[in-house]
Amino acid sequence: MTQKNTDKNIATEIVQKLAEVLGPDATSLHEPCFEGNEWAYVKDCIDTGWVSTAGSYVNRFEEMIVSYTGSENVIATGTGTQALHAALLVANVQHGDEVIIPALTFVATANAVAQIGAIPHIADIEAGTLGLDPRKLRTHLETITDNGPDGLINTATGRKISGVICMHTFGHPCDLEGLLNVCQQFNIPLIEDAAESLGSLYKDQHTGSFGLISALSFNGNKTITTGGGGAIMTNDSTLADRVRHLTRTAKQAHNWEFIHDQVGYNYRLPNLNAALGCAQMEALPMYLSRKRILAYRYHAAFAEIPGVESFAEPDGCKSNYWLNAILLDPADAGIRDDVLQATNDAGYMTRPAWRPMHMLPMFADCPRTRLDVSEDIYARLINIPSSSQLALSA
Ligand SMILES: *Cc1c(COP(=O)(O)O)cnc(C)c1O
Repeated sequence: MTQKNTDKNIATEIVQKLAEVLGPDATSLHEPCFEGNEWAYVKDCIDTGWVSTAGSYVNRFEEMIVSYTGSENVIATGTGTQALHAALLVANVQHGDEVIIPALTFVATANAVAQIGAIPHIADIEAGTLGLDPRKLRTHLETITDNGPDGLINTATGRKISGVICMHTFGHPCDLEGLLNVCQQFNIPLIEDAAESLGSLYKDQHTGSFGLISALSFNGNKTITTGGGGAIMTNDSTLADRVRHLTRTAKQAHNWEFIHDQVGYNYRLPNLNAALGCAQMEALPMYLSRKRILAYRYHAAFAEIPGVESFAEPDGCKSNYWLNAILLDPADAGIRDDVLQATNDAGYMTRPAWRPMHMLPMFADCPRTRLDVSEDIYARLINIPSSSQLALSA
C-alpha cells in the first residue's frame, strides 16, 4: 500500500515538473523549427528547377558544416544511416569482420555494420557519459584478442575486429580521449556516430572531428533537419575522395560517357533537402542556446524531486542537449512504465531509451561484453520533450 502511494507520487511529481517547465500544452519529443530562410531557399530550388542531386545548395550546406565543425571534409548524404554505411565501407570494414558498438544506441549504428556483412560486437557504456566505456573496452580487448599480422583477432570467434564506433548519446560527448587511446593501443580506427551531436563539443573541439571518419544525421527529429539527410565528416582527404566517388555511383568524370569503376551507391543529398539544411544551419546557434536554457530549467525543476536526476553534460564537454533525459533512482526502475504512462496521458510525450542492441532479435547472438550499465540505464532512463521552441513556452 505505502509502496504504491510512493510510486504514484513520483509519477505525479514528474508530470507537475513537466507542466512547470513546459506549460499546459501537449508537446512532442522533438519537433523541427522553421523560423528563418527555409521557405525562401526551398522555393528557390523549385523556381530554378534545381531540386535533385546537383545544385548549389549541396555545396553550400557542406561548406557551412565544414566551417561550423572545423572538420576538413564534409560530404552530404541522403540519410544518417547511409553516411554511417559509407563511412564503414571506406574505413575498410570487410564482410565477416567484427566492429565494436555500444549496446545503448539507435539501431542504425548496428544496422550499418550488418549492412556491410560485418558483425556488431556489443560493448558496455559508462553512466557518466552514456557512451562507450574505454576502461572496460581496453580490459575486454586485452582479454579476448591477439594482435598479429592479420590484424586484431577475436580469439573466441576467429574474426578480425576492424574498428570501434562510438556514439554521442542524446548529444552528450563520450570519452573521446579514452577511446582514442584504446584504439591506438590496438591499432584500429575510431569511427564516430555523431548523428545526435551536431553542436556538441569535447574539450572545445567539435564531436565527429576526432575519429578517422564520422556520420551526422539531419532526420526530422534531430537538432537541425533537412527532412531526411546525413553527412560524412573526415580530416583525411583521401577517404573523403573515396566517399564522394562511392556515394555518387562511382562515376568517373567525363563530358558525356557513363563510366562507373566499381559498384557504387546513390547516397547523395538532393538540393531541395540541402536548401532546407542551409537555412537550418543559419539558425543552429539560436537552437543551441534555446536548448541549453530548456536543459537548465529541467535541471532546476528535477533537482526538487529526490530520486530523480536530470542528466547533465559530462565534465569538459558542451552538449547540444539534443534530447533531455531524466534518470529514476535504481530502486525506482520498476515504475518507469508508470511514469511513461502518466506523462504521455498528460500530453507530454516521453519515451524510454532505445532497447539495447543485444536485446533485439537480430543482434541477440552477437559477441558482447557484460552489459550491466547499458541494461541499468535502459531500465530507468526517460527522454522528455526537447524541441528548441520549448524554451519560449511557460
Ligand atoms: C538518427 C541516428 C542515426 C541516423 O539516422 P537516419 O534516420 O538514417 O538519419 C544514426 N545513429 C544514431 C545514434 C541516430 O540517433
